[in-house]
Amino acid sequence: MRIFLCVCFVIVGFFLFSSCDNDFFLPGFFEPKQLEHPTAVPGKSDEISNEQESHPAHYIPKNAERYTEYISKYTDIPYETAIAYVNAGVDCKNIFTVDNPDSILVLLNKSHALPMGFIPKKLNYISGTEYRMTVEAAHSFEQMRNEMAKQGLALSVQSAYRSYSRQASLFGRELSQGDRQAHPSVSGAGHSEHQTGLAVDVLHQGGFSRLEKAEFEATRQYQWMIENAHKYGYILRYPEGLEHITGFRFEPWHWRYVGAKAAEDMRKHGISAFEEYWGRYLVNP
Ligand SMILES: [Zn+2]
Repeated sequence: MRIFLCVCFVIVGFFLFSSCDNDFFLPGFFEPKQLEHPTAVPGKSDEISNEQESHPAHYIPKNAERYTEYISKYTDIPYETAIAYVNAGVDCKNIFTVDNPDSILVLLNKSHALPMGFIPKKLNYISGTEYRMTVEAAHSFEQMRNEMAKQGLALSVQSAYRSYSRQASLFGRELSQGDRQAHPSVSGAGHSEHQTGLAVDVLHQGGFSRLEKAEFEATRQYQWMIENAHKYGYILRYPEGLEHITGFRFEPWHWRYVGAKAAEDMRKHGISAFEEYWGRYLVNP
């Protein structure tokens, strides 16, 4: 009887919560497969205390049901990675307002938003450009750009800090084009890394058409950044093939400042999605 009630609970829970905004994900990335770590799936809440020792450090008991649901949907994601994704809101259950908007490690995505009216404490112009970033991000970017210039690799800045109202107008334009659900490329206001002053869009030349942005992937500048940007604290925020995690298609031009320690750490652990790094190492269980 107890097992029967438990099964019912899971099934009812699944339907109750399945109203999540699935537009967050690009479709068709995962086909159900056999769960690789069935014994590690968290049990129902009254069993958690008995199993706690088997959980990884980033396991958060209050997320137990979300872990179960996410793992049951995406069975080919390793257990600890799936937990990290859920911690980072990849399952899109709620909108969280971040409490550390000024931190270089702030996580922003479709489930994590800035507080209303947030403006970074101090912004500096990236030298030689009309674009601003936080003092630390701008300084580090200039160092990276100088190093690239020494090697004959010119890098132009196409966008950096954008205010809430600027982001809102960009988002409105994207929606009016009607293709955002299939190809999301602009965040809603309050959800954009550009509003933190920690993100920069770059290109190998002036101008800013979508075609040129896509071509950036094939340049030496992009290759250099893939190999070296972490030393300057920058990560490729929306890598190819991780659209189902970041919620965004591949953006070779969008780079996010997280500081050299986190960027090096991600590289050391072979982690490409900031969601995974944040959900494993930066979340407070
Ligand atoms: Zn961008």
